[in-house]
Order: sequence, then structure tokens, then C-alpha cells
Amino acid sequence: MSQIYLNLVNGEWTKSLTGNIEESRNPANYHEVVGMVQDSNLEDLDKAIQAANSAKEDWRKLAAPERGVFLQKAADILETKIDEIAETMTKEMGKTLPEAKGETARGVAILRYYAGEGMRKVGDVIPSTDDQALMFTTRAPLGVVGVITPWNFPVAIPIWKMVPALAYGNTVVLKPAQDASVTATKVVECLHEAGIPNGVLNLVTGKGSIIGQGIADHNEVNGITFTGSDQVGRKVGQAALARGAKYQLEMGGKNPVIVARDANLDLAVEATVSGGLKSTGQKCTATSRVIVDETVYEVFKKKLIAKVKEIKVGNGLMEDVWMGPSVNEHQLDTVMSYIEKGKQEGADLIYGGNRLEDEGLKNGYFVEPTIFDHVENDMVIAQEEIFGPVLALIKVANLEEGIQIANDSEFGLSASIFTSNIQNMLTFIDDMEAGLVRVNAESAGVELQAPFGGMKNSSSHSREQGEAAIEFFTSIKTVFVKG
Ligand code: NAP
Ligand code: MG
Repeated sequence: MSQIYLNLVNGEWTKSLTGNIEESRNPANYHEVVGMVQDSNLEDLDKAIQAANSAKEDWRKLAAPERGVFLQKAADILETKIDEIAETMTKEMGKTLPEAKGETARGVAILRYYAGEGMRKVGDVIPSTDDQALMFTTRAPLGVVGVITPWNFPVAIPIWKMVPALAYGNTVVLKPAQDASVTATKVVECLHEAGIPNGVLNLVTGKGSIIGQGIADHNEVNGITFTGSDQVGRKVGQAALARGAKYQLEMGGKNPVIVARDANLDLAVEATVSGGLKSTGQKCTATSRVIVDETVYEVFKKKLIAKVKEIKVGNGLMEDVWMGPSVNEHQLDTVMSYIEKGKQEGADLIYGGNRLEDEGLKNGYFVEPTIFDHVENDMVIAQEEIFGPVLALIKVANLEEGIQIANDSEFGLSASIFTSNIQNMLTFIDDMEAGLVRVNAESAGVELQAPFGGMKNSSSHSREQGEAAIEFFTSIKTVFVKG
């Protein structure tokens, strides 16, 4: 039997009171159980929240640089486990091993960044009209922060939420996605091994509808940071709003790339393939709409198909594999149903479109990289997030029409343009409604020291990562002192 992973409650690795465990399976081979995790209930969650609540005063009062020391240690521990954790990630949710290693190394860098935050300034001195007074701002943590994460970046996202929460003096209860709970538990182990005091960081695995919802509803959770789908995010936001808790939602995207007539087409093809199909298209910032100027459309399309043909699909642990499986059967079915929808709507399926069931692939959730031609932007495949390796080609007459179509979406997470014309770049930067705008670079790229988040329905209009994280995880106190 495979290993059983436990919840972390008040510093103790703990079984769920339900006595139930859930299997986490490998999407590249569903016969393989990667590990067993606790299928927790609301009582388990309540114990974790109580532990976080009891620990919050001491943690808040610890000097911020001291909190940073724990994070620094955790970074060192995670660094020694990059290979092991990356392999677990590949087995548990399917992304290729090099991507998983890159993500885990990113986790180490995020830990180091926020360890350093413990030594940076948190406020400003503001001139008072009273010449006898000192006026300044400082910051207070929220208290207990609930962290709800998706499966697609099972190391980086829990880290980029938990770690700034901790750095700024909050205590944390993490509920990771069921599809990535073993990987997330291994990350929490690193923080625990670093000696973070009991109750400061807690982990409760289980169903989103029970544990995730339970976090959103619990009166002693002061802040909730969520990344996932917009449907679930809305529920979380409503529950938080109903009881006055602070919340932050990072949700889906329908990210466009615009290829202008003066683009370097080879570069644009490279970035479209990488941005759209790496991680099997399962990134919130993945390129899904490919909006191409009519004068270069046919050449671009030919080059794109040639490049996509080179992609080898398979088990992400294998060295020559470039694209792994969809994360689970449900996600595969969703992707297949969008492909059907695209055909019904009259888009031309020009590449891929099938589930792969050859020898070596039939026990996994593999789908071909897929390209649709002649897509109209009002088609469902151009409006809804597919979260699979599906590219929709849209032909436009000029840049103005390209930007107008790019903006015609409920989402606004990431967008990129390929052009060599500086005026095109400036117009795009100015007019594009997206939280990340990228010029001559793929849509799926994020640096940990820069703010990250979307516009429109992609986000609750907050930002995370870099210096932006402090805005969510703390409240400003304006202080006026008179002697
Ligand atoms: P999801 O289904 O919304 O799940 C996200 C998390 O919410 C999981 O931990 C899930 O638990 C939990 N959950 C489910 N129902 C809940 C409820 N009623 N209340 C509270 N929590 C609940 O999303 P996903 O399928 O894991 O991830 C894919 C989505 O995430 C895509 O839409 C993608 O665009 C988005 N995403 C956004 C960003 C960003 O930064 N903007 C980054 C990555 C991904 P279980 O799954 O364990 O049930
Ligand atoms: Mg799995």
C-alpha cells in the first residue's frame, strides 16, 4: 500500500477524525496510487483553525526578521528536496519533470524573497500639519489566513500564498487541491521541519466543497486567499463578504496573443506553442486565443502546425516527453467536450482533437495538442476557459481589430503581442485590459518579484507576489503620536 499522508494540526501530524483516506492517482497511469491523503471533515478543520487562532498572538509579536529566519531554513530544506518533490508533482498531476523541477526551484526562490521581506520597511512617515507630532504608517497582520489552492502549480501557488502570509505575521490553514495534496503536503513538511512554531502553519486535506467552503464560512478565519476557477472563487468571495472577512481571488483566463504583421513569426510561433501547450494548457496564463493579422496569417499557421507536430505527448517522467496528460478524467472530458463544441460551432479542426490511447498512453488522460482555424471570437471555444492544449486561431484585419477582439472577453489575466513596431507595442500596453501585458514574450510567464493578478473576472482586483503581497496580508495602521 502506498504511503498515507496526514494533516498538520497544531504542529502534530494528525489523522482525520473521519478515519477516511482518499487516493491520489497518477494521471499518466491511473492504476498508480501516488499516495493516500486524509479526507477530512469540518471538525478536523475547526481544530486546525483553533490552533492557528491560538498561535496568532505569539507569531504576530515575534520580530519580523525572526519570522524570516524560519522561512530561510524552509528554503534550504526545500532546496535539498527539489528532485523528490518534482517527481511527486509529475506523478501526481502530470506536468513534465523539467517543468516540475523549475516550479519547485521557484518555490525555493519565493521562500528566500519573503524571508528577506522580514527585514524590509513596512511603512512611511507622513508629514503632519501639527509640528509637534509624528505621523507614520505601520502594518498589522490579518490574523488567521485560510489558503485554498488549485492543482496546476502545486508547489508555487501554496508557497506564494502561505509564505507571505507567514512573513507578515499571520497564521495559516492550507487546504490544497485534492489532485495535488501529496505534493502540497511535502511542501508543508519542509516548513514544519524548519521549526515553525506549533499552530502557525496547519494543513487540512479534503474536499473543496467541505474543507474549502468550511474555510470560507468559518468565523475565525480573518482572510482567505484563493486561486482556482471563477465559479468556485465567486462562492468563496460571497461567503467571505457575508461575514466581513478579507478575501483575494485569483481565477481563470482566456489569454490572447496578438501576432502583428511586423512580428518575428518564428518567435511568435515558439511563444504560442510554449505559452499555449506547456503544462498541457493547464496554466491560468496559458495562451488560448491566437489573433493573427491577415497578411501573415497563412505563413504563421503553417509554421505553427509544423512546430506542434514536433510535440511528443506522454508520461512527464520520460525525458523526451514535452507534454503530459490532463490532470484527471473530468478535465480530459471537459477538454474533449470543448473540442466537440468547437466543431459544432463551425470552427475548422486543423490539427489534433483526439484522445490518445496508443500503447503506453491508454491508462492515462492524454489528448493531442489541438488547433482550430477560422474561429470567431463569439464562439464558446474563444470565450470559455478550456484548460487544455487547445489553440483557437482568429484572423484580423489590423492591430486595432486585434486588440478589440483580445479585449472582448470576460477575463483579463494575461495577454501578449508580437510586433517590432514601437507604436504597436505602446498601443497594446495602453489599451489591453489584462493584469499582465507582455511584448514579444509568451503569455505564461510570471516573475516572483513582480505583482501578479488579473483584471475583469480573472481576479478580485487584488494582486499577489512581489511587494504587492503585503497589501492583502496586512492592514495599514495610520499612527499619530504627540509627545
Ligand atoms: P477549482 O476547481 O476552482 O479548485 C480550486 C480550489 O478550490 C481547490 O482546492 C478546490 O478543492 C477548492 N474548492 C472546490 N470547491 C470549493 C468550495 N465550494 N469552496 C471553497 N473551495 C472549494 O480550480 P482547479 O480546477 O483546482 O484549478 C484550475 C483553475 O484555477 C482554472 O480556472 C485556472 O485558471 C485557475 N488558476 C488561476 C490562477 C491565477 O493565479 N489566476 C493560477 C492557477 C490556476 P478540490 O479541488 O480539492 O475539491
Ligand atoms: Mg492525481
